Amino acid sequence: MLSHPGRSKPNQRATRKAERVNYTSEGTLSGRFCESHREKPLLGEPRRSQKRAKGALVLVERIVAPYFATNCWIISTGSGNECVIVDPGIAVPDLAFRIIEQCQRLKVKPVAILITHGHLDHTYSVFPLAEEGGVSTAYIHPDDRELLINPAKGLGVQGLALLEQLAPTKKWHEPDRVVEVDDAHVIEVAGMDIEVLHAPGHTRGSVMYRVDGSTLVSGDVLFKGAIGRTDLPTGSPRAMKISLSEKVLTLPDDVRVLPGHGDETTIGLERISNPYLLEISSSSR
Ligand SMILES: [Zn+2]
Ligand SMILES: [Zn+2]
Repeated sequence: MLSHPGRSKPNQRATRKAERVNYTSEGTLSGRFCESHREKPLLGEPRRSQKRAKGALVLVERIVAPYFATNCWIISTGSGNECVIVDPGIAVPDLAFRIIEQCQRLKVKPVAILITHGHLDHTYSVFPLAEEGGVSTAYIHPDDRELLINPAKGLGVQGLALLEQLAPTKKWHEPDRVVEVDDAHVIEVAGMDIEVLHAPGHTRGSVMYRVDGSTLVSGDVLFKGAIGRTDLPTGSPRAMKISLSEKVLTLPDDVRVLPGHGDETTIGLERISNPYLLEISSSSR
């Protein structure tokens, strides 16, 4: 993964599933940035959990960013191995040092940054992590890529106010290597097969990442008991409904869900308790 050449289109590193043979907190600022209006996700302290699933995934660590309590996930097949970093969020000056420190403690080596969507609370520390942590490759959907260098375009009133407060004159940069991913691509990295599920609605370029089949990194599409808001730029309630119906509700119950905010959950639990999913299920009957 570290040898990936330059900025590239999909297919160079992320391959189509069809081509595969064996594809089997501390809150210094409160308020809603990405969450839906009806439910507020639970805030949680950084914690570590280990779970042996059928796939190779055994190590999941969460760092909750100080701003908006965005979950940054460290995912690896185990101590001593490589890992991916999902959605490094907002801290002052940034979250990179804390992520690097945590990786050292866990004895895992970060080799890629996965971005679920282009909102600043998920991308703020992408460039610092690439620079300071030597994690030069980032994955993002093309429809949200522009937000890496122009984050204001994705923000609502609250986000713009924060941007003005935190970084009024900041110049934004992409990491050296940005790989655009789209639906059904499979990223082979850190010993894991990571399938991309395009799930627009929160933003046009929102994706979820399904790791080794057993774990879903859901970004701001699905939370425990809630879903992502759809009123920010490029958001769409209609697209969100289709994403939930076709990309979330079609997953098996035992899939573990690591959301962009709040505590982890499972597809099975959300299917029977999440009011948004229940509404979609009942309207499709
Ligand atoms: Zn968010
Ligand atoms: Zn968001």
